[in-house]
Amino acid sequence: MGGDAVRTGSASVDVSQVGEASRSLWRRALDVAPGGVNSPVRAHRAVGGIPAFAARGEGAWLWDADGRRYVDLVQSYGAVILGHAHPVVAEAVARAAAEGTSFGMPTEREVLLAEEIRSAVPSVEKVRLVNSGTEAAMSAVRLARGFTGRSKVVKFSGCYHGHCDALLAEAGSGASTLGIAGSAGVPDSAVADTLVLDYNSVPELDETVAAVIVEPVAANMGLVPPEAGFLEGLRRECDRVGALLVFDEVITGFRVARGGAQSIVGVLPDLTVMGKVIGGGLPIGAFGGRREIMDHLAPAGPVYQAGTLSGNPLATAAGLAVLSELDAEAYDRLRATARRLGEGLQGALSDAGVQAVVTVWETIVGLRFAQSPARNHREARQCDEAAYAAFFHAFRSEGVLIAPGAYEVLFPSLAHDSSVIDRVVESAAKAAAALASRL
Ligand code: PLP
Repeated sequence: MGGDAVRTGSASVDVSQVGEASRSLWRRALDVAPGGVNSPVRAHRAVGGIPAFAARGEGAWLWDADGRRYVDLVQSYGAVILGHAHPVVAEAVARAAAEGTSFGMPTEREVLLAEEIRSAVPSVEKVRLVNSGTEAAMSAVRLARGFTGRSKVVKFSGCYHGHCDALLAEAGSGASTLGIAGSAGVPDSAVADTLVLDYNSVPELDETVAAVIVEPVAANMGLVPPEAGFLEGLRRECDRVGALLVFDEVITGFRVARGGAQSIVGVLPDLTVMGKVIGGGLPIGAFGGRREIMDHLAPAGPVYQAGTLSGNPLATAAGLAVLSELDAEAYDRLRATARRLGEGLQGALSDAGVQAVVTVWETIVGLRFAQSPARNHREARQCDEAAYAAFFHAFRSEGVLIAPGAYEVLFPSLAHDSSVIDRVVESAAKAAAALASRL
């Protein structure tokens, strides 16, 4: 595809920066895997061109199959917080692997990780470990329904909770970039009890609602922070009608603070869904909450939930290694990094005359090609996706990776030191200038 150009709305972008090894792998991937990928957003449908194939990472850096080096601001969509191949994680996983990869019996590390989560996350008294954020959200909803004896679930448009049938409606990020609200294969009956409402608007609930599930800081429609009173209003409404408030902290858990977003916003949920950071890049998910709710799970209670690989030795070893590095100083550093990145990006784009808003919430950075920040999904979608696509390609050719979708966020890691961020900002200035000349 050397010298190819992709027209993405108003912007034409050169995608020739992907080397021959990635192109060859892409041809084989397309032949053997649906759409060439194992998760849709990786396929670049939203930005055009083809993906580079990752070969290895180290800290803030990632090398592709052609040996090209990039600063990686994707960091496995937030699963990696220490940077790639952190020695503490690599050693913990290697040691665990040498002792056995899976047992089907309880292990000490499952207890240790659950204890770590409980001691950090204010609302959590008991934890169930699973294998993905999807599984955790799906199981939390089942538990909420089993606990309350009710069926209705409220979710918010633009919030993503994984791809279980009941929660896929209007799910933001990957689904948004593909332009599908839910999915083929999800029967109406599966979403008959799902109510989809506007983020940042407190609904009036009734006694049919089992659970309200929400990203306390929405990060799948770009970055949309909660407005004052939103989460407090959800808490109040849930208490009024006896519904459970479920925070999906798959992104924010241990990312914005050890205690997650709930420790910052000051609103406590009944159940918390987690994933990503707690597995250090290995497959994991978890959900937890008050003892009397969690004890409704099998075998203590009647709500069935299980998993052959749940609490996996490698994933728990990686998770424990990551959490051991996450002290107050680490979050101070990550917050400062996110601020430096946000200010630098905003400056680079504004100086080039590109209309964009960079939002920083604690340690997460949102990049939106629009005049103003969004407060819900409707507003979030009113952005210039073509400008994002053009910037993505220009940024990549300057050696910086962001997600190939306008509704994802940027995840600096603890390995992104100030010299790396300064380099990113220099690259952003060049990419913004290239974008400005094309628009
Ligand atoms: N919840 C949120 C907020 C997410 O961002 C994601 C994934 O990005 C999920 C749930 C699903 O997690 P997983 O991809 O591990 O299934």
